[in-house]
Amino acid sequence: MGNFDIGWYPPGPFQIIVNYNSDKIKVKMAYVTNGWNTVGSILNAPFHAQDVRMFWSGQAGEKNIDHAFNSLYGLCDVIWNGIQEANQYTVDLGMRSSQSQSQHLTILAYYRSNRSPNGNAASAPMLAHMGFNSTGVAWMFGQMDMGSSPPNELNDLPDLVVVQAQNNPYPCNELRQTLYHEYGHTLHYFKTSDAFWGDNIYYSVSDGSYGEDINTSPGNFFALSEGWADYVGHTFAFLKYGNNLTDVVEFNEWTLQNVRGNYQQLLEQVPTFFNDFIPRGLFYDLTDNATDPPADFDQISGFGINNIYSLLNTNMNTIQKFRDSWEEEHPNANNALLFDH
Ligand SMILES: [Zn+2]
Repeated sequence: MGNFDIGWYPPGPFQIIVNYNSDKIKVKMAYVTNGWNTVGSILNAPFHAQDVRMFWSGQAGEKNIDHAFNSLYGLCDVIWNGIQEANQYTVDLGMRSSQSQSQHLTILAYYRSNRSPNGNAASAPMLAHMGFNSTGVAWMFGQMDMGSSPPNELNDLPDLVVVQAQNNPYPCNELRQTLYHEYGHTLHYFKTSDAFWGDNIYYSVSDGSYGEDINTSPGNFFALSEGWADYVGHTFAFLKYGNNLTDVVEFNEWTLQNVRGNYQQLLEQVPTFFNDFIPRGLFYDLTDNATDPPADFDQISGFGINNIYSLLNTNMNTIQKFRDSWEEEHPNANNALLFDH
């Protein structure tokens, strides 16, 4: 399974107090007492986050949690369980042939005093896989006058960064959805190149937003990468919670109204992620078979998530290229109805 290694590391940008290791996941817990710090900001592009609009009280269904919620160990448990679940869902949905194909992920979990004002500032820099000599990472550290090497406290850099706030903790289901969302980014990473991901980090850090719309850079990039990731996040969250969780609330940027439902209903009824143009609902509509209520623009059915995933590649860096690839692979007069919607 793995083991905990507990210890206080010398005071630095942050203190790492728990390591958790197994063959599939390594979790480092960093306790941050006073808001963000330089290293924290560098590894947490704060806009790379889901605006928090959901709530859920209680932790019903958290059968595998061994430690108290909202504790260092409890956070570690959510991450551990969540990654194992995501590995399983990836196989169940045909995106990998077996659990043994799961990639090792290094995760840095921040246990802060308070939430970031920008929401849950989780991210998927994939630094352990990329190595810190890659262009993107050197650039990133250079931006902060830190040279091109990571600080000693991070003797291996994280693939994922996850945040919990002690004084106002994210409920388990929100943490999980965030983790699944970031896991969706890792799935994408494994279909691309380090250069592609360096560009992803560059866009994230330099622009400071997801862009303006799907037709200009970097919106055309994030429409693909964030749309995909949040589609995965909600798809996995529905596999986890199903109808045990029907009161998740999100804000629909098109109708400007709150929507309440389970994670699958939210994919249908809240078509965009974070702003009004990142099209997570598009990916869902490609793979659902019936819509509720029926939608005349959604006349595509018979596909699964792997029909989307198998198309992702290192040359596909905009949502338009995804559309071209989909239409070439699956010609159908109804494609335009959906993509133009
Ligand atoms: Zn994301």
